Amino acid sequence: MHREKEVLLKIKNAQTYFPVQKGLFKRTVGHVRAVDNVSLDVYRGETLGLVGESGCGKTTLGKSILQLVPVTGGEFIYNFDGDEKDLRKLSSEEMMQARKRLQIVFQDPYSSLNPAFTIFGSLQDPLKKFGVRSRAERKEIIGDLLEAVNLRREYMHRYPHEFSGGQRQRIGIARALSLQPELIICDEAVSALDVSIQAQVLNLLLELKEKHKLTYIFISHDLSVVEYMSDRIAVMYLGKIVELAQAKDLFDHALHPYTQALLSAIPVAEVGRKRERIVLEGNVPSPVNPPSGCAFHPRCPHAMELCRARTPELRKYVLDGREHHVACHLAEQRVGTAAQTSQIPEVEQHATN
Ligand code: SF4
Repeated sequence: MHREKEVLLKIKNAQTYFPVQKGLFKRTVGHVRAVDNVSLDVYRGETLGLVGESGCGKTTLGKSILQLVPVTGGEFIYNFDGDEKDLRKLSSEEMMQARKRLQIVFQDPYSSLNPAFTIFGSLQDPLKKFGVRSRAERKEIIGDLLEAVNLRREYMHRYPHEFSGGQRQRIGIARALSLQPELIICDEAVSALDVSIQAQVLNLLLELKEKHKLTYIFISHDLSVVEYMSDRIAVMYLGKIVELAQAKDLFDHALHPYTQALLSAIPVAEVGRKRERIVLEGNVPSPVNPPSGCAFHPRCPHAMELCRARTPELRKYVLDGREHHVACHLAEQRVGTAAQTSQIPEVEQHATN
């Protein structure tokens, strides 16, 4: 939980658009708006879950933070021990230094480990780059890292193909930890693993977070996994954040029809308890040509004329003293219902993040 609420990363109006090119001369005929005006604070020490269907922009947002894709606009203000700097404005040397603090764990660690190198070979590279000159010292650090992710030190002499998927993901986590980062973006980090192995890796991530005082941005299409990991959850649809709240609040009182539909698809573990399934019509529309107004309107069971004409802003409400952000024209009405349920009817001012 973010006790002191120190902002580690402030994202302001982030836009990442990819050009759509056609013909012999690769004329730009449009843009995929993968991330479309996203504003978001990430607090030091929290786990912020990022969810949505495939193609909603959550992975691109993660890569945009790390400047791994060309970002079109906006600011990514990172708190370097009290010194706030926009990651987009750093020189390549400064960005390389910043990468010590910001790391990523990918879905498929196999593709990010060089099959021709032993684990020692792969993990020593960043250490070398950041000044650990002695081979013996690198060996010691890598041995410690492997032990930290519950693998044996001597595994450093093995090749990636000698490990199972779960072990490879542990190695991916060890590599992300090697430079003692502050913020780790876990991008579908357990999606490729069996359920039993998923639980082990999730618990390991929680343990490491506590031990190393880490901040996570946890990206997944799986809401149950995100609920297990996160303090707050942001829901993305077609490049925008449509709802953002404390994990429990989002699960108890989802206010956006899209979030409600996603939640309705999660099986309920309790015997005799059923959740009414909301089936969404159609697929996620193309981000090249998003629908007018609220981009969710073609699939929304509550769509009105206003929804087709006007894009709802992401607004901040306060329920039970906790912030809940939602982008829907019906939000105020729904906040009333949620407030009645929680018995503290309070609706606060508008905000953009
Ligand atoms: Fe549905 Fe309208 Fe709300 Fe969009 S703004 S989610 S279309 S009710």
